[in-house]
Amino acid sequence: MAVVGVLALQGSFNEHIAALRRLGVKGVEIRKPEQLLTINSLIIPGGESTTMAKLAEYFNLFPALREFVQMGKPVWGTCAGLIFLANKATGQKTGGQELVGGLDCTVHRNFFGSQIQSFETELAVPDLVSKEGGPETFRGVFIRAPAILDVGPEVQVLADYPVPSDKVLSSDSSVEGQKNAEEQSKVIVAVRQGNILATAFHPELTADTRWHSYFLKMGNVIGEEASSSIVPVEVT
Ligand code: GLN
Repeated sequence: MAVVGVLALQGSFNEHIAALRRLGVKGVEIRKPEQLLTINSLIIPGGESTTMAKLAEYFNLFPALREFVQMGKPVWGTCAGLIFLANKATGQKTGGQELVGGLDCTVHRNFFGSQIQSFETELAVPDLVSKEGGPETFRGVFIRAPAILDVGPEVQVLADYPVPSDKVLSSDSSVEGQKNAEEQSKVIVAVRQGNILATAFHPELTADTRWHSYFLKMGNVIGEEASSSIVPVEVT
């Protein structure tokens, strides 16, 4: 059985492992640097990136994670995982937390606001649909979600989101800062840069396995002919 590592310090790692299982792939919980040597692709889940970073530091995971990314092995960060992979993080409560980096972008933490401003929306993801088929849109679950504000030339934008002005929470409370936030009409919420995939939302919390299948194909964990499923999952 094919195996994929899932960073299991905190957050929604169990949900990723369950989604992988639905595709016939075993998700292995990763907590120690040496365990990264045993896998060829890795998912960094959503959760709380400051807590996750503290735990990663405690377990001395940062050098091994950076090496893993730099080796060109497929890595997918969802939500807090995206923050981990970004070269630069900005926004609320970003207190110089350590990042793995590798993804040439600036991510804004908690861009859409706090927990009660979490939301779900239908996202157009043309590249995902062209590779995986299925419905034209993907249900994006945004929980205290970050957004990508700018990307480097190597980064392919897979999905963006038109931001209603009442959803925008600028970390800059100056009049100028708020004005800029209101003028911002679209933010980036899914990207790919070579071996790195990153989504601001949580595909593992839906019954739609197309993002997992897309990621597994990046690392040849499953073949191009494999198909994803969009079946209701019984939560036990
Ligand atoms: N806002 C969280 C953070 O900055 C991420 C939220 C999530 O992963 N759902 O860590």
